[in-house]
Amino acid sequence: MKTKALLFMVLCLCCMGSVQAQQDGRIPAKGFALDAPDGKFRTYEFTRHALGDNDILIETLYAGICHSDIHTVHADWGMPVYPLVPGHEIAGRVVAVGKDVTKFKVGDLAGVGCLVNSCRHCDECETGDEQNCTGRVLTYASKDYHHGNELTQGGYSDNIVISEDFAIRIPDGADLKRVAPLLCAGITTYSPIDFSRVKSGDKTAVAGFGGLGHLAVKYMVRRGAEVTVFDVTDDKRQTALDMGAVRYVNINRPEEMEGLEKQFDFLISTVPVGYDMSSYLKMVRCGGEMAVVGLPSFKEMPSIDANTLIHIEHCKLYGSLIGGIRKTQEMLDYSVSNGIYPDVELIEADCAAIDEAYRNVQQGKVQFRYVIDMSTMK
Ligand code: NDP
Ligand code: ZN
Repeated sequence: MKTKALLFMVLCLCCMGSVQAQQDGRIPAKGFALDAPDGKFRTYEFTRHALGDNDILIETLYAGICHSDIHTVHADWGMPVYPLVPGHEIAGRVVAVGKDVTKFKVGDLAGVGCLVNSCRHCDECETGDEQNCTGRVLTYASKDYHHGNELTQGGYSDNIVISEDFAIRIPDGADLKRVAPLLCAGITTYSPIDFSRVKSGDKTAVAGFGGLGHLAVKYMVRRGAEVTVFDVTDDKRQTALDMGAVRYVNINRPEEMEGLEKQFDFLISTVPVGYDMSSYLKMVRCGGEMAVVGLPSFKEMPSIDANTLIHIEHCKLYGSLIGGIRKTQEMLDYSVSNGIYPDVELIEADCAAIDEAYRNVQQGKVQFRYVIDMSTMK
C-alpha cells in the first residue's frame, strides 16, 4: 500500500508537465470564479482531486463561454454554491495519465463537455445516455460523490482532471481554437437533429441564431435541409444567408412572420429567454417535430398552449439535453471531418475580458461564441 502511494506520488510529481501535485496528490489549479450572482470574475486558486488510475489531467488551452454558464452563475436555475468556476466547453492537451488509462497518452488533445462522471450502471449509463443518469456529475457546480462530495469546478481554469471515460478524443488536424464550443453547443444541436433524422429537402427552422443556433444551421445545411432562421434583430441576417439558410426572419418584423403556419418538418428552439413557444410550434406541420433545447431562467419559463398543440395533430414536441459521451465523440468526429466548426471570437484569459463577454452575450452583442484563449492567462 505504502509502495503504491509512494509510486503514485512520484508519478504525480514527475509526469505532469508544468503542474506539480501536492503531497496528498491533489492538483493545484488556477481559474476565474464568481462569488455571487451579481459579482465580477476574480482569479481563484483551488485544487482538483488527485489523478486516479483511470484519470487524465488536461491542460486547458481553450474554454468556450456558453449561455448556460451565464444562466448558472446568475442563479437563473436556482442558487449555486460559490465560488464557482464555470466552463463546460473545454479543449486541451493531456499532460498526465493514470496507470490504467488506455484511450489517451501524454501529448494527445482531449475535450471535456458538460459531464465528468455518472453512476455508470443504470439503464441510461448502459445505453450511453449518461446525461440522463440521476447520478450524473456535471463539469461544474455539481457535487462529485465519486470524490468525497467536493464541488466540481469548470473549464475557465488552467487544468481539469477527468476519468478518461468522460473525455472526448479530439481528432488530429482539428482547428483547436474552434473545437471547445462543439463539446456543448455542438452536441446539444447535433443530437436532436440526428434523433429527428433531418434529411435532404426537409423544411427546417432554427429559433435563436446564437452559439447553439448557428451550429444547428450548419449541421442541417450539411444534411441538405432547407433552413429558416429566426432571431430578434436584423444584425445577423446576411450571415445566416451566407451560412446557407434560405430565409431569415426577424420576429420583431410581423410582416416576416406571415405565411409560416405549419411550414416546417422540424424546428429546433435555442431561445435562452422568456418567449412565446406556441408561436414557434404553430409553424411546425402536422406530424412534424419540435425540439426544445434553450432553457430560459426559471422566472421566465415559457409554456405551451394546449390548444395550439392539439391543432398540430401528431406533431411531436420534445426536449433534449446535451448528449451522451459516445454521441459527443460521434459529433466531434463528424464535425471535424466535415469542417463544421462554430464561428468564434477569441478573448484573453482575463477577468475584465470575461466580464465584458458576459455582458455582450446578455445584450446580444456577441456574434456567436466567445472562446477564452487560456494560453494568455497570467
Ligand atoms: P446565445 O445567447 O448564444 O444565443 C441565443 C440567441 O437567441 C441569440 O441570438 C438571441 O438574440 C436569440 N433570441 C432571443 N430571443 C429570441 C426569440 N424570442 N426568438 C428567436 N431568437 C431569440 O445562447 P446559446 O446558444 O449559448 O444558448 C441558448 C440556450 O440553450 C440557453 O438557454 C442555454 O442555457 C441553453 N442550452 C441548453 C443545453 C441543453 O442541453 N438543452 C445545452 C447548452 C445550452 P440576442 O442575442 O440578440 O438576444
Ligand atoms: Zn453549454
